[in-house]
Amino acid sequence: MALDEYKRKRDFSKSPEPEGTRARKSPGGRTPRFFCVQKHLASHLHYDFRLEHNGVLLSWAVPKGPSLDPSVKRLAMHVEDHPVEYGEFEGVIPSGYGAGIVMLWDKGLWTPEVDDIEAALKKGDLKFTLDGYKLKGSWVLVRTKGGGWSGGGDRSWLLIKHRDEWAGPVDIAEFAPLSVKSQGDFAEILSEDNPDVWRSNRPAKGGETGAMFEKIIARALEMRSERSDSSNRSARSKPSGRTDGEMTVSRANRATKRTRQPQRQSSTSRTTRARSTPRKRAATRKTR
Ligand code: MN
Repeated sequence: MALDEYKRKRDFSKSPEPEGTRARKSPGGRTPRFFCVQKHLASHLHYDFRLEHNGVLLSWAVPKGPSLDPSVKRLAMHVEDHPVEYGEFEGVIPSGYGAGIVMLWDKGLWTPEVDDIEAALKKGDLKFTLDGYKLKGSWVLVRTKGGGWSGGGDRSWLLIKHRDEWAGPVDIAEFAPLSVKSQGDFAEILSEDNPDVWRSNRPAKGGETGAMFEKIIARALEMRSERSDSSNRSARSKPSGRTDGEMTVSRANRATKRTRQPQRQSSTSRTTRARSTPRKRAATRKTR
C-alpha cells in the first residue's frame, strides 16, 4: 500500500532499483532502526534522506544535503516511501524516473526522540537522533507550512541539526563526499557499471548538472581504460595477479587522489571510527 507510488513511478525491467517485495517489520517506540542518505545525481544533484518506519523508508529529498551547522536550515521535500531494501542500493539508473547515479552517502541507525512517530509526522515536527558514519547526534525535521502528512498539501520540510557535540560549522557534504558502501565517487560508481550508458540521452544536458555529468562520464571512461590497461599488464607479468580486494583499494586510492581528499579523508575518520573503517570495508568488497 505505502509503496504504490514508488512502484508506479518505476519500470523494474529497466531499473536496477529493488522492487520492494520483501515485507519487513520495523521496531516500534524509541528503538533504533535503519536510516540512510543517498546522494543522487539525476536531473539535479540532491540527497535522499530516508528513515525506516513501519516497514518502509520515509523519504525526503534534500537539494543541498544535510548541514552540521544548527543555524543552517536545509529544505527537505517529502517524497514517496521507499522499500527498506532500497537502503543498501547504490548504482546507475539508466533511464526513466530518477535516471542518473545513486551513491550510498551515509547509513546507520536512527532513534526517535518521541514515543509516537505518527503523531509527530502529523504535527510536522519529528525529533530524532542519528548514528551514521557521517551524521550523528540530535536533529529535527519540521514542516514549513500547514500541509498534511500523507498526500496533498505542501510537502516542504526543513532538516535542522540540533546544537550538541556533533554540530559544527562544517559542510559535511563537501567534507565527506564519498560513498560509505564502495568508498567511490560518482565516476567510480559509473565506471563499475556502464560509463557509456548515456551516449545518446543524458539525464541532464545543459547547466551545472549537465556539466557534472559530462565530467563524471569522461572520468568513468578513463578509469575503465586505465583499469583494463593495468589488468592487461598484470596479467602478462604476473598470471596470479592481485586480489580483488587489493584492486578495489588501489582504485579507491586513485579516486581519493583525483578528488584531492587525503586530509579530508583522514579527518573524516574522526566521525567514522566508531564503526569499521571504510578502508577495511573496501578491502573486503568484491569487485563486480
Ligand atoms: Mn532522488
